[in-house]
Amino acid sequence: MEEKEQVRLKFFKHIIYNICVFMIIFIVFGLFVFFMVQDTIYENVDNELYESERKILELENLSVNTILGTKEFRNQIEDILQSNLNVYYITKRIVNPNVVVVVRDLDGEIINDDLGRLSEYTSEINFDKENLDKIYELTIENEFPYRGINFLLEGNDSQEDRYIQLLINVDGEKDLVNAYFRIISLAVLLGCILSILASYILSKKTLKPLTDNLIKQTEFVQNVSHELRTPLTIIQAKQELLLQEPNAKIIDKSEDIVLTLNETKRLSKLVKELLILSRADSNKLNLQKESVNIDDYLKEIILPYKEIAQMQEKEIVLDLNYKVDINIDASKIYQLMIILLDNAIKYTEAKDKIEIKTYLKDNRCNIEVKDTGIGISDEGLKRIFERFYREDRARNRETGGIGLGLSIANVIVTAHNGTIKASHNEPKGTIFTIKLPTN
Ligand code: ADP
Repeated sequence: MEEKEQVRLKFFKHIIYNICVFMIIFIVFGLFVFFMVQDTIYENVDNELYESERKILELENLSVNTILGTKEFRNQIEDILQSNLNVYYITKRIVNPNVVVVVRDLDGEIINDDLGRLSEYTSEINFDKENLDKIYELTIENEFPYRGINFLLEGNDSQEDRYIQLLINVDGEKDLVNAYFRIISLAVLLGCILSILASYILSKKTLKPLTDNLIKQTEFVQNVSHELRTPLTIIQAKQELLLQEPNAKIIDKSEDIVLTLNETKRLSKLVKELLILSRADSNKLNLQKESVNIDDYLKEIILPYKEIAQMQEKEIVLDLNYKVDINIDASKIYQLMIILLDNAIKYTEAKDKIEIKTYLKDNRCNIEVKDTGIGISDEGLKRIFERFYREDRARNRETGGIGLGLSIANVIVTAHNGTIKASHNEPKGTIFTIKLPTN
């Protein structure tokens, strides 16, 4: 039971591990897409800021006279003259109207007053002298997002050094980024939920059979050790008892000797049966097929059982209607019939009837072993072919059962590409129906 829990725990650990890996992939992927989208959205704004910085710095390299002489600014000479030939005011005219140009003295104080709507929030426009030539974000009044860049504009004979801060409002871009963030978050969330489902389904598909096998194997080993332990303990105890009286006569100790002999037989049977099953598991159950008249063959197998049944006041009836030869491994089918007949004898009482029937149905050779014995429970019918399954353990130890007989029967029939199933006999007892291919 503990092992089962451990295997189950491992199964769930594996699922959780899978989910975590999937989630990490989705989150990393989501973040990557988000940053890519964000960069693309801000790319134009950032280019505009860099371009404006470049234009202003280029302008600074020209002498005022040259500037005034250029065709571009000739029309604005009046304005420029009015603005005391302040070169910083000229900058405003060469940059995109979206760009707010903030001019600061070397102490960082704003010295221009044409900041449009931003004039109301001058104290809110953060400025860091150390942070030059790099794009940054800033929010004014906690709700207006801007992207900006600062740089130093060196003065000339008529101008002092100044800091220029360029700002662009990115309300629209921010909304777009937020919308993308929501979409990507939703996609990541959906991906995570799907990954939970997918890892559960995939793990169940791939791991469940493995874990089930592992559980079965653990149970199998437990059962085998249990079955080995009991006879070994009995044999050891009895042998020790015999050794304590070395001078005793065999006749006096015959009961103990018979008991050890029986347990040894039991062990030998167990080992033989385990060998058959392990051969079947590794597909090494080689069939030596030959053409056999199944009715005649069954008559032969059943003969000794008729006597046993008679001795126990039971009746064996044959109803054989399969007249054609069939390709089978005769020794394996013999083994199969022995298992079914042994059980039929074991689980019936005096006056009960055991019937062996053969007939052709659906192009298959049907063999039925029917008894009016104690029968099998509904749960038992489902599990009867499992290894070590026994209806009533206490009773079965008395009858010498280990619970491997029907598993071997199943293995033999399957190797012949046939099927075997157990059902209730009416009004009581059990029917085992074997269907074998006809060729
Ligand atoms: P065992 O060696 O214990 O008989 P089997 O695999 O042959 O092992 O059978 C498994 C169990 O199925 C038995 O322990 C018994 O409880 C039940 N069983 C098998 N055949 C019959 C039958 N003909 N009638 C009633 N119970 C049966």
